[in-house]
Amino acid sequence: MPESCHITNTEAYKETVFEASCHLLHQLLDELSDIGKSEDGGNTRVLYSSSWLLAQQHLQCFMQEKGLITSFDQSGNLYGLLEGTDDSALSQPIFTGSHIDTVISGGKFDGALGVVAGTVALMYLKEVYGQPARSLAAVSLSEEEGSRFPFAFWGSRSITGASDWSSVRNLKDAEGITLLQAAEMCGFGPDSPFPVRPFKPHGYVELHIEQGAVLERKGTSIGVVTDIVGQKRLDVTITGEANHAGTTPMAYRKDALIGTSEIILQIHQLALSYGDPLVATVGSLDVLPGAVNVVPGKVVFTLDIRHTDKSVMDRFTSEVRSLVTESATRNGLTAEWEEHLSVDPIPMDGEWEESIQDVCDKLDISYLRMPSGAGHDAQIFAEICKVAMIFVPSQNGVSHNPMEFTSKEEINLGFRVLVELLHQYGYRGKTDE
Ligand SMILES: [Zn+2]
Repeated sequence: MPESCHITNTEAYKETVFEASCHLLHQLLDELSDIGKSEDGGNTRVLYSSSWLLAQQHLQCFMQEKGLITSFDQSGNLYGLLEGTDDSALSQPIFTGSHIDTVISGGKFDGALGVVAGTVALMYLKEVYGQPARSLAAVSLSEEEGSRFPFAFWGSRSITGASDWSSVRNLKDAEGITLLQAAEMCGFGPDSPFPVRPFKPHGYVELHIEQGAVLERKGTSIGVVTDIVGQKRLDVTITGEANHAGTTPMAYRKDALIGTSEIILQIHQLALSYGDPLVATVGSLDVLPGAVNVVPGKVVFTLDIRHTDKSVMDRFTSEVRSLVTESATRNGLTAEWEEHLSVDPIPMDGEWEESIQDVCDKLDISYLRMPSGAGHDAQIFAEICKVAMIFVPSQNGVSHNPMEFTSKEEINLGFRVLVELLHQYGYRGKTDE
């Protein structure tokens, strides 16, 4: 891209730079997807692995080449800063980005899109509009997925202070390596020369793939995320009596699997009666003793419940609990219930949501207000600053899979909305205090 000059104000020039930026975005996305390529064509960049480190270093070089001021923190989060003219806001930039880590054999777009789009958006803004009033920082968060260590959102949690080294250092991966050892192998950790948290974000905006099929099915370009759903995870144990499959007549059985089947169908029906956005999933069954010639004596199944409204989620959960107890008792079985996880729904910032919608209206881009059924770093940042999320469609709703795909045209629309939003909040002095 040419150096800034007087023609930067013309619409034609902006459009030329925008097109070049889109090209750069897809090129960087391709380059990242070559790092940590697995045999099936997917991407594997788990926290503090060699491919993870290579990706962060590649991004850092890219940011530096394009004039952003780069830095790392102790957790390995990478920042590319575009300094603003307002000194007081220097240490409180607006963050834009996502996570660089992936699941095992994940897709090319989950996380990487937000990191790359945020980075290139700052380059575009610098080229076209020069220095912003408020500092902007592209952030490549070290970890979100929880794919290597039994802990998710380490990158954003370390920035907000929700977690620190004392709570994660001894977590072990499948090979017995602790999170601290892995971090130190990459040059990070509490004894590294990097700061704990160099910036406190003023706000956080994340471009992400939807990871569902709603936008594609409705033929809509942009998802304006209203909430990140709350979630409950439970284990339910149904106990009957294991017995001989040949000598126990049907009428005398206490078959835990038959009872569980009825319960699962009832949960499904109840979820349907609640309607969107409630979702309830039985994703795993453990049938014991699990032999071909034994009537199942015990079944443990998982239950995942999500909704944007905590009171509805709680009411549904309590109805499911009554249903499970009633159904088990009627079939001569017993039920136990254990809740492992309960996360409240997180609303996005209302003013930022409206701004995204205004941008879409102005640019004549179709949009849909929608909740996110998946967790994202935005929900962690929401504890300390205003947050917004922009979704682009996922082909066939596929994600966490090498088949994950979003077209260049769809990405470019999301990128344009992100750029406009950052321009609005970074340059026009539009204060959102
Ligand atoms: Zn993600």
